Parts: sequence; structure tokens; C-alpha cells
Amino acid sequence: MQPSPTNQNWPATEFSQRLGGPSGITELMDDLADALQQPERSNGESVKLMGGGNPARIPGVASALQRELQELGKDEESVAFLFGQYDQPAGSLRFRQTIAQLLQEEYGWPLTPENVALTSGGQTAFFCLVNRFAGRMADGSFGKVLLPLVPEYIGYQDQGVGQESVFEARRPLVEETGDRSFRYRIDFDRLDLQPHHRAIILSRPTNPSSNMVSDSDLARLSDMARAAGIPLIIDCAYGLPFPGVVFGDQEAFWNDETILTMSLSKLGIPGARTGIVIAPPDIVRELASMTANIGLANGNLGPWVAQRLFESGTWRSLVENDILPFYRRQRDFALSCAHQFLPDDLDWCVHESDGAFFLWFWFPELPISSRELYQRLAAEGVIVVDGSYFFFGL
Ligand code: PLP
Repeated sequence: MQPSPTNQNWPATEFSQRLGGPSGITELMDDLADALQQPERSNGESVKLMGGGNPARIPGVASALQRELQELGKDEESVAFLFGQYDQPAGSLRFRQTIAQLLQEEYGWPLTPENVALTSGGQTAFFCLVNRFAGRMADGSFGKVLLPLVPEYIGYQDQGVGQESVFEARRPLVEETGDRSFRYRIDFDRLDLQPHHRAIILSRPTNPSSNMVSDSDLARLSDMARAAGIPLIIDCAYGLPFPGVVFGDQEAFWNDETILTMSLSKLGIPGARTGIVIAPPDIVRELASMTANIGLANGNLGPWVAQRLFESGTWRSLVENDILPFYRRQRDFALSCAHQFLPDDLDWCVHESDGAFFLWFWFPELPISSRELYQRLAAEGVIVVDGSYFFFGL
């Protein structure tokens, strides 16, 4: 059936223009889906998927999940609950208790289930948080989220629901750390917090550069946020305590004016769409209302399976013995390939690899745009991510 032509004349809202249009994150997700549909090119070679997206299939994680699902099959009560009931909008109370207790035991943070909200993935957590803190404020002013450092996660870019961007970003200091390596640092001299800044957001490790902002810089950022009376929101999608893909000795951070987001996705469970927000109780209640309004409740499968992995302690062994070593090996291999195969006279360097699943390359003398580089590589069957998308809010 042909789509009705009149649909194309329905007036757009600001919401539809921002969220319904093309964006970096939709391109990334489309590329991923296309490449997975055609794992082979016409010349028989496999497509090299080096863009963002799915976590790797790690045998230890896969078998742990399979074991849990086999147990589920034998448990009539759990099946009835998982598929037959809506849980409360803030998410399973038992799971929220487990998370609060886990963070208390790991780090001594005095959290209760009232500090924990579940969402349908970390992405949805950010949709709610970004629009909770920025955009048209109840008093009529316009609030923005300050990104203390870009490049920053492409998926935030179009999350504000209005026409005007809700992000304001600062360029980083670039520090040369070796012959072929560099590091971004927050430029605190340019980080003048202003009244329209209503929250600070930082992913740590950062998608895409893998930068694990240092403990001291994070404490400084937190002090600035506290002095300005705004929250520091830290996206721990790849970080501590799970999936724990952190190669250095940086530590987890929280205080009662910090909001943390975590996710089951990079543990290897993105299909269960489960995000976890650690926040003051009033924000948790707001997030629960948003969940009820947007989708009634979250899915039950993610919290159920994670509950079992957390209660049995299996999660720690998966992080320490499977996930972290896997990504470290992959990182080491990719870096060694870069050193071995990129020509000596090519001007390239890579951000110090602190964690997460990425390497962030910089070609200072590149005669073409990063967009064109992306397209040329895609034509050769190598899917990367165009870096230009990550510099929004400037
Ligand atoms: N935050 C960062 C930094 C990410 O890289 C991603 C996904 O790639 C997300 C959040 C959202 O992931 P999910 O919605 O699967 O938890």
C-alpha cells in the first residue's frame, strides 16, 4: 500500500522536528542494522563493524544469561510475573534494593531504594533527565545543560524536545601525551557557570574518546556544580561498578548532589532495555511519573536477570574475568594494528584509551572531512563513526 500523500502535509511540531528527523544517533543505529543484515560484501569479505552500538558477544556473559533463562523456564511464578504484570513505574522494588545495597557495599554510599529509578535503558534516562533540567523552564527562562568537554556522546544531541538546542559545550584542552597519543582535559578557565546552566552532564568513560576524567577534575567539577546549585549528572554506561570497563585506577564518584546513570546494556544485555538512575528521592519520584506517562512501566526481564546476577555475585566475576579482559585485549589488538599498519608518514594519533569500547583517532592533516572519510571507509566495508557528530553544543 502506498503511504497516504496527505501525511506529508501534517504540520510538524518542534518535538517532531527534533526527535523525528535525521540525527547522528539514528544514522549510527541504521548503519548498525544495515551492516548486521549484510554481514558480507559482494566480494565475499565480511563487513568490518567498527562503529558504535552493540556490545560484543562474550562467551562467559552469553552462558551466564543462558543459564538464567533456563532456570526461568522452570519457574512458573517468575514467568507469570515477568510476562503477566506491570511493575511499579520506578521499577522493581527488590531490584532497586539490590542496587542500593550493592553500591553501599562497594563504595559505602548511603543509598536506599528511594534513590534508585529504573528506565527503559540509559538513553531514556537521559531523555527524561535532559528535559527535566533544561529547556523552557517553569518560570519562562531557558535552561541549558553544560557539557564541560566535547566530544561527548552523540545520543544526547537531539534529546531536548524544543527547537532550541539545550546543550552548551566547552572545547577541551588537548594534551600531547606521547608520540601518537593525546588526551582531552576539561578547560576549567572556560568553565564559567552561568544562571542558565541548569545541569552538567559528562559520560565517564566518555563515549567516544574513552576519556576517564580524573578523580580530581571530577571533584572540582562537582564543587562547581554544588556552588551553582545544579546537579552533576555522570553517565556511567561503560564505567563503574558495571560493566566496569575502566583500564586505569580512577574511582567511582557520587555525592548527594550527583545523579548517576547506569545501564545493563554494556554488561551484554542491551536487548532488555534497562537503565538505572541514582538520584535524590524527589528526582526518582519525578522519573517514575515520567515512566508512567511515557510507557506505564519498564520491562521486567532486565531487572529479573540482573537481580540474579547481582544477588549471586556472578556479576563481579563476569566484569573481572570476562568483560574487562575481553575489551582490554581488543583494545590492545586494535592499537597494535594501528601502529603496525598505518603508514609511518601519516599524521595520526589516538586518545589515551582509559576504558569503554572505543578508540578515538585524530588525523590532524586529513585533507577531507571526517564525513567523507566515513563514507569512503563504508564503501570499503569498514563501518566507523563520523567524529564530527560528537562536537555539538559549541
Ligand atoms: N550513554 C552512553 C555514553 C552510551 O554510549 C549509550 C549507548 O551506547 C547510552 C548512554 C545508552 O545506552 P542504553 O540505552 O542501551 O542504556
